[in-house]
Amino acid sequence: MIETGVTAPVLGAAAPRDLCTDCGVSRTAFAKACGKACQFIHPRYPELETRVHGRPRDAAQPDEIHFGPFRRMVRASLTPPRPDAQWTGITTRLAERLLETGAVDAVLTMAPDPDDRWRPMPVLVTKAEGMAACRGMRMGYAPLLALLEPARAMGYRRLAIIGIPCQVYALRALEAELGFERLYVIGTPCSDNTTTERFHQFLALLSDQPETITYLEFRADYHVELRFSDGRVKTIPFLKLPISQLPPDFFPLTCRTCVDYTNVLADITVGYMGGQGEQWLIVRNERGEELVALLGDELRTSEPGSAGKRQGAVKGFLVNVQRAAGGLPLRRMPNWARTIVGWLMPRIGPRGLEFARTRVDMKAVESIVHLRREKPRRVRTMVPDHVWALAAPYGLSREPGEMPALPGKPEGP
Ligand SMILES: Cc1cc2nc3c(=O)[nH]c(=O)nc-3n(C[C@H](O)[C@H](O)[C@H](O)COP(=O)(O)OP(=O)(O)OC[C@H]3O[C@@H](n4cnc5c(N)ncnc54)[C@H](O)[C@@H]3O)c2cc1C
Ligand code: SF4
Ligand code: SF4
Repeated sequence: MIETGVTAPVLGAAAPRDLCTDCGVSRTAFAKACGKACQFIHPRYPELETRVHGRPRDAAQPDEIHFGPFRRMVRASLTPPRPDAQWTGITTRLAERLLETGAVDAVLTMAPDPDDRWRPMPVLVTKAEGMAACRGMRMGYAPLLALLEPARAMGYRRLAIIGIPCQVYALRALEAELGFERLYVIGTPCSDNTTTERFHQFLALLSDQPETITYLEFRADYHVELRFSDGRVKTIPFLKLPISQLPPDFFPLTCRTCVDYTNVLADITVGYMGGQGEQWLIVRNERGEELVALLGDELRTSEPGSAGKRQGAVKGFLVNVQRAAGGLPLRRMPNWARTIVGWLMPRIGPRGLEFARTRVDMKAVESIVHLRREKPRRVRTMVPDHVWALAAPYGLSREPGEMPALPGKPEGP
């Protein structure tokens, strides 16, 4: 262990699994639990939402069908913003405060791999000073939950975990059996992830010196922001990204069919989609409130805004996904038109919470289209009711073979 209290334990090998983002469960002694824990087999959102938040999402409450159960949502920034953070560093600051106040013994999260800054490497952090090294986003997935065993072996009983939705789903499904004394779950949204190897292909299309790119973010103003090691910043409108040059399987099927964009089983979700240039917090339960309180005056908050209408954008996206026949959704548009649309979108397109709803709707319809094409037998068990509710206004609803099993009948993958 180094002074900052950051350790990267050696982890077991991953067991072969079909749809899998290697959340870490298959590398542990409870590897057989994948069937029960995996988001890609038969997710049980209403049951787990009830266990974690005391109730399932409520269709009568504004935005819960889209974002899951919550107490409140805010736009937020940390003051001062932390260097090297993905946004202002709220996520890692929450974990720092938990360690500073002694609320937890350790934090399970990702640091950059020493040989590749874009590769996530699971680490156990026991000192607040260690969280600075974890700031920023890596592309790819890594076996976060395999750290649960070393954490237990080291005698840590009170933990915080920072995770993406497929990791948090498996954690919550197994939480009761893990027997930790206290667990804080800080989630980030996640979408369009891919392997780190694939992500390097994308970087190589964005710059002739891809190794100098230190930061990348898909911003809510329809631009990708790139930062370079010499301090340069470049923004590219989404429509001008070289998506057509990527291989059709650039995004794995898991990440094209993942049904939880906003990390509904976290105590608090820290994202940016609904923040209109700031961060966006979804405080989901009492423990989430406890986390926000730890930041005190360091957190500046305001009401989230919402503008524009999402239906046209989602319909256009659905048509593109269906046309792309299993590949990436391409927009066939001449360059001059892309420039105009790229300029218009941040001004008249969905903004704030409506932008977040747009992305969640897109994810819902995309999941159904890709699963139907590539794993039709999984549709019945993998697509939860709330995703069907989101997809219904776009003309997608359950077909006869996709009905949920009758009560008492066994369900399986
Ligand atoms: C692959 C990916 C896609 C995302 N897509 C969206 C999106 O579409 N919309 C949205 O609102 N937000 C998205 N996010 C979250 C967003 O990028 C920010 O991480 C989040 O808003 C927190 O910002 P921050 O400044 O508070 O984070 P920081 O304080 O900089 O902390 C970031 C935390 O994320 C962890 N982390 C970084 N990379 C990974 C990874 N690959 N896997 C697991 N943990 C990781 C770090 O270890 C660190 O703890 C995504 C995150 C990831 C990893
Ligand atoms: S639970 Fe985790 S390790 Fe197991 S199949 Fe699912 S993603 Fe893979
Ligand atoms: S997009 Fe979904 S499946 Fe892919 S890494 Fe993110 S949470 Fe996991």
